[in-house]
Amino acid sequence: MKAALTDNIKTTPYWWEVAEPEYLTAAPVPATADVGIVGAGYAGMTAALTLAREGRNVVVFDAMRPGEGASSRNGGICSGNVKYSFETLIKKVGLDQAKAIFKEGIAARQFLINFISNEGIECDLRDVGRFDGANNKRDYEALGRETVLLKKHLDFESTMVSRQEQHTYLGTELYSGGRFRFDIVGVHPAKLYKGILTRAIEAGVTVINRTEVKTIDRQPDNFHLITPYGKTIVKKCIVATNGYTNQVTDWLRRRIISIPSQIIATETLDERTMNRLMPKQCMVGDTRNLYNYYRPSPDGTRIIFGGRRGADSNNDMTKCRHLYHNMIEVFPELEGIRLTHTWWGYTGYSFDLFPHLSVHDNIYYATGFCGSGVVWAPWLGRKVAMTVMGNDKEAKSVFAVRPFPTRSFYNGDPWFLPLVIKWYGLKDRLIYGRRY
Ligand SMILES: Cc1cc2nc3c(=O)[nH]c(=O)nc-3n(C[C@H](O)[C@H](O)[C@H](O)COP(=O)(O)OP(=O)(O)OC[C@H]3O[C@@H](n4cnc5c(N)ncnc54)[C@H](O)[C@@H]3O)c2cc1C
Repeated sequence: MKAALTDNIKTTPYWWEVAEPEYLTAAPVPATADVGIVGAGYAGMTAALTLAREGRNVVVFDAMRPGEGASSRNGGICSGNVKYSFETLIKKVGLDQAKAIFKEGIAARQFLINFISNEGIECDLRDVGRFDGANNKRDYEALGRETVLLKKHLDFESTMVSRQEQHTYLGTELYSGGRFRFDIVGVHPAKLYKGILTRAIEAGVTVINRTEVKTIDRQPDNFHLITPYGKTIVKKCIVATNGYTNQVTDWLRRRIISIPSQIIATETLDERTMNRLMPKQCMVGDTRNLYNYYRPSPDGTRIIFGGRRGADSNNDMTKCRHLYHNMIEVFPELEGIRLTHTWWGYTGYSFDLFPHLSVHDNIYYATGFCGSGVVWAPWLGRKVAMTVMGNDKEAKSVFAVRPFPTRSFYNGDPWFLPLVIKWYGLKDRLIYGRRY
């Protein structure tokens, strides 16, 4: 094996080369606001923008630079999926609910696409679809069943791609064919974030960066948001901290599992190689438990390849090598290629693997996006704002009515995560064979 990593590989997101989160000028913590929002990712900022445009005085706090959480680190794949296949979803929640959930995913993605277009946000939106590679024949058949069910119950078009045809989608021998969805798009996630932030600030939102809310102090008529630099008294409070949730909200902490996800970016590849490996330039996923997701960079010159961080080491470079080997398994001809960037961030999982729009003790939450928040976070960010304003019609969501489960042993520390990841890794090896 040739050297895979450069000595000077960057550990910041590739996206930040053109859209790094900015340090905002330190603004004084305001004494009062109508609505206080904790967390300035896609969810928090979309909520803030919606509220400000309806005349509310809004303050948003973020412990880091705005967008420095998952919202400027992700793969930019706009799926709007939940973690279950449609077949499993029907078994889990019944046909009507399953249909409602799937339809809401379509509506949420369309909302994002319309929002980007209406707001004129330059974020390299690519209408390229998504190929899901089946890691074995059984998974291919399962994808086929899902395709039939979606057509039957929702008149939803997707297409099965046989092993022989898959080269027109992806230059790999790895998969036993796959399924192509026409409706899924890609964006430059950090440019998208910047667009939302800019619009929110223009609408009058006060964003206080690098200021952690230490306590949400509930009073009879309002909340005191306590920070190291002062407190703001707000009438309503939204928490949008997702995978970065900490002890400031014990209730949420007991319901969110922060799971790291990591990405690598290759050096620039020549046009012929890119055309061979990713001829349709589409978004890609696979069917392993510890799945990979990947895509070309928006300029079509590199591969951006992501997945779970392995459980056997805490070393970032070891985890980077895991991803590198996974990528070589898909595209063996990339062996020896240099990587320019590797980075990671936290996704926020719920125990039932659904997003949640919840109100508890008068605090509003939009969270639990389970690694698919590019679509869900702006959608539920807007919905949570509508909930705060009492606009029941616009606030309606299938994710508003589901109970938000926790586990009796869980206090927010996912000590079991390495074991779970190891278990899924073992399962994957047994089902699909050794990775490398
Ligand atoms: C590596 C990676 C790849 C991903 N790829 C995809 C993808 O391809 N497609 C997709 O749909 N999704 C993807 N995701 C998931 C997606 O990025 C997230 O679901 C989404 O960005 C969540 O947005 P958010 O606004 O809820 O939270 P975040 O953007 O994570 O923001 C939460 C913010 O809360 C702040 N915060 C926390 N506690 C406090 C406090 N007490 N006071 C003040 N601030 C606080 C944090 O500083 C953070 O900035 C990926 C995630 C990662 C990490």
